[in-house]
Amino acid sequence: MSLLSVIVPCYNEEESVALFYRELTKNDPFFKEKEIELELLYIDDGSKDGTVREVKKLIEQDPRVHIISFSRNFGKESAMFAGLEKSRGDYVVMMDVDLQDPPELLPKMYAMVKNGTCDSVATRRSDRTGEPVIRSFLSENFYKFINKISKTQLVYGARDYRIMCRKMVDAVLQMSEYNRFSKGIFSWVGFKTEWLEYENVERSAGETKWSLRQLFKYSLEGITGFSVAPLSVA
Ligand code: UDP
Ligand code: MG
Repeated sequence: MSLLSVIVPCYNEEESVALFYRELTKNDPFFKEKEIELELLYIDDGSKDGTVREVKKLIEQDPRVHIISFSRNFGKESAMFAGLEKSRGDYVVMMDVDLQDPPELLPKMYAMVKNGTCDSVATRRSDRTGEPVIRSFLSENFYKFINKISKTQLVYGARDYRIMCRKMVDAVLQMSEYNRFSKGIFSWVGFKTEWLEYENVERSAGETKWSLRQLFKYSLEGITGFSVAPLSVA
């Protein structure tokens, strides 16, 4: 038996919690066939709505479901880190709760990492349909810029949807940075990564939790965390 931990950060996602569970567990026949035990960790990032209540309903029906609940909103990066720290799986996957990271890709990702030819399978979007033009424009230029000034290369359109073997998770956990920028950390730690592409999927319910301002702040974390250029300029 291998244990697969699924980490799902949630911030005010009461409408998506059960939908996500339903879609993920459609893979149960695959998990059973491959002798995979599942550990589903919902990380409540200080939600003010009924997110915790919805997860607790699932916990009552299914002992594979767990919750870690934050005292306030710390941001998705902190939620992912807490999930990685608590995960016990031989393999760990990170997924958004809004179904923008398609659960039906998971069997393929698992099979690729399980056969040992790579340590991680990461995903990228092949398009950005449905996203505001200004957001796509800023994002594209952020990737161009950071890849010019940093040795750590980032893949344009990369999602946080990624499966990793335990060895890689432990390496990521050793980086206990305060201002985390996971896309950079996953690249910086090395390991053999395969990439899968998929077409953009729109959110199942609710709205994006990131404002342009937060995204800008986050991009600065990437730049200051993975390049000495700002320091040299200063
Ligand atoms: N999220 C979180 N904390 C936050 C913001 C977002 O845990 O402060 C979660 C959110 O619930 C979702 C995932 O991170 O599961 C991605 O957020 P969102 O869908 O809003 O981002 P987008 O897809 O628009 O980039
Ligand atoms: Mg989303």
